[in-house]
Amino acid sequence: MSSEHGVTVLVADDQASRRAMVRAVLLDAKVCQRVLEAEDGVVALKHVLTERVDLVITDLVMPRMDGRTFVRSVRAKSNLADLPIIMLTKRETLTDKVAALEAGANDYLVTPVEPLELLARTRIQLRIKSLQDQLRAHATQMEQMAAQDTLTGLLNRQEFHRLGTLELKKANRYASPLGLLVADVDQFKSINDEHGHLEGDRVLKELGAQLRAGLRETDLCARYGGEEFVVLLPMTGLEGTLTTAERLRQDAAAHLKVADRAVTISVGVAHVPTHGAAETLEALFERADRQLYEAKRQGRNRVCAPESPGGSDAD
Ligand code: GH3
Ligand code: MG
Ligand code: MG
Repeated sequence: MSSEHGVTVLVADDQASRRAMVRAVLLDAKVCQRVLEAEDGVVALKHVLTERVDLVITDLVMPRMDGRTFVRSVRAKSNLADLPIIMLTKRETLTDKVAALEAGANDYLVTPVEPLELLARTRIQLRIKSLQDQLRAHATQMEQMAAQDTLTGLLNRQEFHRLGTLELKKANRYASPLGLLVADVDQFKSINDEHGHLEGDRVLKELGAQLRAGLRETDLCARYGGEEFVVLLPMTGLEGTLTTAERLRQDAAAHLKVADRAVTISVGVAHVPTHGAAETLEALFERADRQLYEAKRQGRNRVCAPESPGGSDAD
């Protein structure tokens, strides 16, 4: 949560002496490294909208915009929904406390402010904020993991399906071509049997990296399952898809090895022509998979497409 300035606290209060006191207490105790000041809610709002602020201490009664309106305005911004705010109230009456909390403050402090209590409550709010930030970072990481195949780091099947469906919609919407290829390692079972699963995993990892490196950033590349990979090429017609498939096949045959023996892949290709009828990703995949089967049947280490010599169904 800290910026290059460290932790920043904003103090909004129309009383300059109290702003100075809060500033001194917080900085002396090193609870934060920077204190911004505002003499009313309008200035305070401008600060939180334009600067990185980690916590706000705001007075309730201020000219132009009071503390309650300020808090409500902050909470209305989705990116500031969990900015910690401590409200200063005059008396510890139930109405004052409730008013502060109901407006959306995380805590309140009764004035005159007790330095020790100010420090304790500020520290608590900053700690909560830091934990929230950690949780959010963790959640983002989990999200990424859920989208990734753990072995190869490529997209996993679900994420490929999600992104691929979107690409297919775009292709249909803008009448642009789209290519899809399915690649499968040849005789992979024998690699596992002869060299062990760990070696098999290494081969998959290396192939994944090779495929990804041989594609454009805008192409989607996923491990579809087992030793099968799938690649989607936006804005690419049959010719481009075939060229890509052939290049990937040659790369694998030339560089992918197990104990000096070349490891090869077979590739099936399908594409959506520029003015093709709309179809589902599953149907497109199915067509490529049929070509993959054909490539295996013809002896492996080759690319098959509907219109290539080895292909079967017309497109
Ligand atoms: P083909 O050329 O016809 O594709 O033969 P193949 O042996 O590659 O195909 P098959 O489908 O018979 O065998 C695939 C093997 O891949 C079987 C399975 O144990 C292995 N496999 C699947 N997932 C993994 C994995 O994550 N790691 C390892 N090491 N092996 C895997
Ligand atoms: Mg295989
Ligand atoms: Mg297979």
